[in-house]
Amino acid sequence: MRVVIVGGGPGGYEAALVAADQGAEVTIVNDEGLGGHCVLWDCVPSKTLLTSAQAFNTLETAPSLGVHFEGMPGREVPRYEVDLPTIMTRVHDLALAQSEDIAKQVTAAGVRVVLGRGRVLDPHTVEVRPTGDGGGAGGRPQPERLEGDAILLATGSDPRRMDTAPTDGEVILSSKDVYKLRQVPEHLVVVGAGATGAEYATAFLRFGAQVTFVASRDRILPTQDEDAALVIEDVFERRGLRALKNARAAKVERVGDRGVVHLEDGRTVEGSHVLLTIGQVPQTGGLGLEKLGIQTDERGALVVDGVSRTSVPSIYAAGDVTSRQMLASVAAGQGRTAMYHLLGQAVAPLRWDAVVATIFTDPQIATVGLSEQRAAETGIEVEVDTLPLAGNARAKMSNRPDGFVKLLARPGSGTIAGGAVVASYASDLIAPISEACFNRLTASQLSQSFQTYPSFAGSIQECARRLAVRVQGSYRY
Ligand SMILES: Cc1cc2nc3c(=O)[nH]c(=O)nc-3n(C[C@H](O)[C@H](O)[C@H](O)COP(=O)(O)OP(=O)(O)OC[C@H]3O[C@@H](n4cnc5c(N)ncnc54)[C@H](O)[C@@H]3O)c2cc1C
Repeated sequence: MRVVIVGGGPGGYEAALVAADQGAEVTIVNDEGLGGHCVLWDCVPSKTLLTSAQAFNTLETAPSLGVHFEGMPGREVPRYEVDLPTIMTRVHDLALAQSEDIAKQVTAAGVRVVLGRGRVLDPHTVEVRPTGDGGGAGGRPQPERLEGDAILLATGSDPRRMDTAPTDGEVILSSKDVYKLRQVPEHLVVVGAGATGAEYATAFLRFGAQVTFVASRDRILPTQDEDAALVIEDVFERRGLRALKNARAAKVERVGDRGVVHLEDGRTVEGSHVLLTIGQVPQTGGLGLEKLGIQTDERGALVVDGVSRTSVPSIYAAGDVTSRQMLASVAAGQGRTAMYHLLGQAVAPLRWDAVVATIFTDPQIATVGLSEQRAAETGIEVEVDTLPLAGNARAKMSNRPDGFVKLLARPGSGTIAGGAVVASYASDLIAPISEACFNRLTASQLSQSFQTYPSFAGSIQECARRLAVRVQGSYRY
């Protein structure tokens, strides 16, 4: 079986590894390094940047833990310097190293990688126009045709743009332009208060920038668990962030070397830089899909079934281009499912009711499965318990009391339907709740596993115990 994969992000390269392992002849067509936007522009760079910002947690809490740095006795917050060029070099190097590691893994698995832009000519043929010099006659790139029994489209997404807010990469920035900065902005205006905006706001607040949010709704992170969003709002406020709520940007322009955001209600807000984080759009341009009659939705995303098949039988799609949930883990899961299905393995459709997501603010917000808000909107009955971290011994020792653990269980059975953790390392702490949700464990079962004392994870066990007593009458069977 020959498989041609267009796009080398987690949707594409994870699929390639599965298909090669199953004995298929696999070619990936990608227009940049392997790992895609995820590794080169989005997940890996933004989390590396945030890791530098996390250094401030140690600096900030050290004096209250009795540790003072030389030359700064008694300072509540030690003086610091942010070397943005060094941080950005580290971000860049780390992303490239990660991309190279993936390339090694993929080529070791026997996958052929072709650098270029792919276009689908018919349900079994992809034409590749090489990027770079292409190695063609006279140095001119020569297109190549790749035939496959099946094609997987995993072309990802790009930052959404507004015609009235053209980015210039210097003052008015998209999320990709952030890495060009060599100095911490004096005043960063972030348009869009979703996950991406909140993460960059977290980093640049820590680096000492003044940050203003332009939030179109009455709160930041409007699609997140409301209690979680309120914790982050509170932390942001304490760190000096200003949030303009119910404020829709109508136009963004550069005036001299500053950026000005014009709001729909006539107000304006000005900063040294403006960052647009207004969502992502699926990347289908130039793929030649129109003449294939492939089904897309109103956002232009490829419509797929439970095993990632599009409306054209030999063409599968995975990741952001399907716009289901724009997450690396989802892209990888869709890609693997597609290949197992294609290659004749029995596959279960992806468990959309157990997807994990983290927003890497400080503290982080990690969620899994059903949210309290979604349960209320859809009339699904749930019992909810929320345990603040302030009472957790480890949180006290670390002087990191902001946050909570929230668990949702179905009444009667006590099955865990979802959860949220707001804590420093919520991205890792969500793991036991994810296991419980995926494997449909009960609150009682979750509460009986051992957790380290003292640990943040102890709060998950404690919350599960309280929920089990309430829902199941006892925390034991
Ligand atoms: C700032 C930011 C931070 C994020 N952080 C996280 C996070 O921490 N965790 C998380 O789970 N998700 C995160 N995401 C989302 C995550 O990046 C995406 O969900 C993920 O990259 C999707 O993977 P993919 O394989 O669909 O596409 P991508 O990773 O976008 O890869 C697609 C690749 O295909 C290439 N391509 C496109 N068209 C063609 C063509 N015609 N021919 C050849 N190649 C083509 C693209 O250039 C790209 O290299 C973040 C997103 C953003 C914007």
